Amino acid sequence: MNKALRLSTPSCSDDHDPAALPADIARQRILDKITPLGVEDTERLPLRQALDRVLSEDIMATINVPAHNNSAMDGYALNAHDLPVSGIRELRVVGASFAGHPFQGVCGDGECIQIMTGAVIPEGTDTVIPQEQVEPVGSTHLRIDGRTRAGDNVRAAGEDIRLGQTVLARGRRVTAADLGLLAALGIPQVSVMRRLRVAFFSTGDELRSVGEALRPGEIYDSNRYTLYAMLTHQHCEFTDLGVVRDDPSALRTALQSAAHGYDVIISSGGVSVGEADHVRQVLGVLGDIAFWKVAMKPGRPLTFGHLGKTVFFGLPGNPVAVMVSFCQFVQPALQRLAGETPAPPLSLRAVSASALKKRAGRTEYQRGILSQAEDGSLSVCKTGEQGSGVLTSMSRANCFIVLPSEQTRVEPGTEVTVQPFAGWL
Ligand code: AMP
Ligand code: MG
Repeated sequence: MNKALRLSTPSCSDDHDPAALPADIARQRILDKITPLGVEDTERLPLRQALDRVLSEDIMATINVPAHNNSAMDGYALNAHDLPVSGIRELRVVGASFAGHPFQGVCGDGECIQIMTGAVIPEGTDTVIPQEQVEPVGSTHLRIDGRTRAGDNVRAAGEDIRLGQTVLARGRRVTAADLGLLAALGIPQVSVMRRLRVAFFSTGDELRSVGEALRPGEIYDSNRYTLYAMLTHQHCEFTDLGVVRDDPSALRTALQSAAHGYDVIISSGGVSVGEADHVRQVLGVLGDIAFWKVAMKPGRPLTFGHLGKTVFFGLPGNPVAVMVSFCQFVQPALQRLAGETPAPPLSLRAVSASALKKRAGRTEYQRGILSQAEDGSLSVCKTGEQGSGVLTSMSRANCFIVLPSEQTRVEPGTEVTVQPFAGWL
């Protein structure tokens, strides 16, 4: 049977479509079809190179951090039973413990040891009196009062990380703090997933690349730039395959050559109805591909499936729809493919300062500017015209205003849900 015959014919103009797939269900269907990279896709890397990579092993602590009980202050270490219950007490200073140069002896009754921040707590002591709270008596003695409590100013061995503890779990993307943790454990190398290999291209006879002159009716291709940027922030390896003309054989050639050697192929444009929309026809024959109308705006038409082992996303052509679809579908899929444990995006409630137009029956991802008043309250205003092709609405924004399917028009002063851009948009 010709697979292309099974295709439905969505149109972007019939906005309300009860058959359209809710965005959450579309995302789940995609995730269900993605198999994470396996053990053959891991590599061991020196620590610094592991930044932003996904761990393919649990990291266990082979030492305590800190390794010894140590002082949190510059001062004097003593045994708590020498703390005066009332009044003043005089102690003899019998030695010093510096960071990296521990005191070698044992501290006895009525004695104390000068100690610096980070220095090992000497044997026979369990409490540190800060320097400012003692009164020196000559060069060998000092006076203390009862302000300090037993155990004060001592950092316990293993209070940060306990020997044997799982510090970082497989599936974790290594952050700056994680890199420091691994170094604190003395771990020189870690096992991580390889980077994903992604290829992307645009489709459209009207598209010109930056550096070329525009002829009448032509526009510059911006989707390859937003995709380049978003994939860079997802730490992928990628190849820009340029613009593919609205011609089935050009498209077939592009897809067939890209289907080998990449984990993911992303195209934009050509997935809605229209004379020139060939992606659907070509793909229907080449692979196991679904064509969905998703109940969302922007980003209604979506194509997803596999060309052999390669995951394929056919995103809409409109520039804002590309970015929204990437956030909603591609980014979670890349995370899963890379073996990363997903973290749902941060959602906050904010008062809308703008009136928002909205139809029932689809989730809308409007673009907003979230701001915080001096009293801490959050408000959001929309970034002007919200058309799927209005890329300035994205560029000015710092969040999505997520309006649920059943929602209709939003009056100013109403609370809405916002998802702040997580630093990579
Ligand atoms: P299509 O889905 O191919 O019908 O494209 C929908 C709209 O997005 C049309 O106005 C296209 O000109 C525009 N478009 C498609 N691809 C790009 C691109 N790579 N850069 C900028 N605009 C595009
Ligand atoms: Mg097109």
